[in-house]
Amino acid sequence: MSKDYYESLGVKRNATEAELKKAYRKLAMQYHPDRNPGDKAAEEKFREINEAYQVLSDGTKRAQYDQYGRVFDENGGFSSSGGGGNFGGETIFEEFFGDVFGDFFGTTGNTKRKRRPQKGQSIQYDMDITFMEAAFGVEKEIEIPKTENCKRCDGSGAEPGAMETCPTCNGSGTVQRRQGLFAISTPCSNCGGTGQVIKEVCTECKGAGTHRVKSKINLKIPAGIESGMTLRVTGKGNAGMNGGPSGDLYVEINVIEHDFFRRDGRDIFVELPISFVDAVLGKELEISTLEGKEKLEIKAGTQPGDRIVLKGKGLPDVQGYGIGNMNIDIKVLLPTKLTKEQKELLQKFDGATTDDNYSTHKTIWDKMKNFFS
Ligand SMILES: [Zn+2]
Ligand SMILES: [Zn+2]
Repeated sequence: MSKDYYESLGVKRNATEAELKKAYRKLAMQYHPDRNPGDKAAEEKFREINEAYQVLSDGTKRAQYDQYGRVFDENGGFSSSGGGGNFGGETIFEEFFGDVFGDFFGTTGNTKRKRRPQKGQSIQYDMDITFMEAAFGVEKEIEIPKTENCKRCDGSGAEPGAMETCPTCNGSGTVQRRQGLFAISTPCSNCGGTGQVIKEVCTECKGAGTHRVKSKINLKIPAGIESGMTLRVTGKGNAGMNGGPSGDLYVEINVIEHDFFRRDGRDIFVELPISFVDAVLGKELEISTLEGKEKLEIKAGTQPGDRIVLKGKGLPDVQGYGIGNMNIDIKVLLPTKLTKEQKELLQKFDGATTDDNYSTHKTIWDKMKNFFS
């Protein structure tokens, strides 16, 4: 179950803040655990809408989600949770309903002040992992080509101590231009608005301020991760400019399909072919689960399409909320090649059976007869 935050809240992708708030309010009231005691589905839904709202109500996180999908921090929690990894929902719910008309939104929408140091660019990296790695979590070392600040000049591009005040703007970073009655300030083009120019270029990086490097990163991939989810590693993107922080690294995960396990969220599905004799008489088989070999009892009278559910034998929830089930779908195999002797045995068997041997056979045939008469 790959949740889409917009679908969770039942809003369009271009929903306004007010529409999101309204949709969240309505659903949160409806699915709050206090109103649905013991209802697991409601609890799940409540968690889902809280997660969705927490992300979509924050402009930055929403933009990030639109671009990258659900993003996890390297510590395994959602980046949207502000580090705590708590998606229980209570906190945001209280925050929301405790102060609906307060400045809850005002405080999150920080005023944008333009400062000269700029955060480095983010890097996106795609990674394939196996089904089992996704099931149990894995640590991987990856090598990312990126830019790093030059150590000699600390990213300035100038030899140490070789910066001087820009002669064009006298260090202010702006120049005034008269246009009719008005004086307009524009960033100084000589120094790029920094007020400083390089007197002597750094010998190490030739003035670029950065190097291209291959950076080794140890990535912890949490158990239960799904295809399309993204991990964020803070500060492992390209170097910042003018002393700004490095960008982030986003690793998008693709889980390679398994030969026989299929997956939907934390539940896994597998098809188990058995002979019609085993279906009729029952049998104890040995099957493979995620954890290894296990005995499975096929009950006598098992029908094609029957599903055996092994509770807790699925995948862990990536946020740590429980473990899914393993669903075994029975496929009854009918023989296609028989010897003369086998055919005779089956005919003999058929001659000895009556409708009473089949639980549903008789009623269906009776209904068909009535239908055509
Ligand atoms: Zn200047
Ligand atoms: Zn340098």
